[in-house]
Amino acid sequence: MVLALSYVVEKLAEAAARRASGLRYDIDALGLAGETKRMAEEVIESVAMTLVFERRGLLRCAVCSKGPFTRKGLYLHLTRVHREFIEELVRKELEARLLGKGGGSGGAEHAHRA
Ligand SMILES: [Zn+2]
Repeated sequence: MVLALSYVVEKLAEAAARRASGLRYDIDALGLAGETKRMAEEVIESVAMTLVFERRGLLRCAVCSKGPFTRKGLYLHLTRVHREFIEELVRKELEARLLGKGGGSGGAEHAHRA
C-alpha cells in the first residue's frame, strides 16, 4: 500500500473533525506505528483543539463561531464547511513536526530562535 501524503492529510483532517466533535476516531486503518503514529495523534489533538469551543456546555465551531451543535452536527459542519481549512491545518502541523520547525501548537511561540 502506497501512503500518499495527501491521503494521510485527508485522513488526519477527518480524525481531527471527529475528535473535535467528541466522536470516536480510528487512525489504525492508516497502518501507522510507533513514532509516526504518535506524531499523527499529536497532530489530530492539536488541530482538534483549534476547531471547537464550548459555551455553557454547548459545542460551537471555533472557525466561524456558529452553533451550538450536537456532536454529530458539529462533525458534519466541520467536514462540509471547513474541510479545506482543516486539511491546511493538518498539513502545517505535519510540516512543523517533519521539518523540525519546533512549536506546532498554534504559533504561540514566534520569535524563538537559537
Ligand atoms: Zn464553522
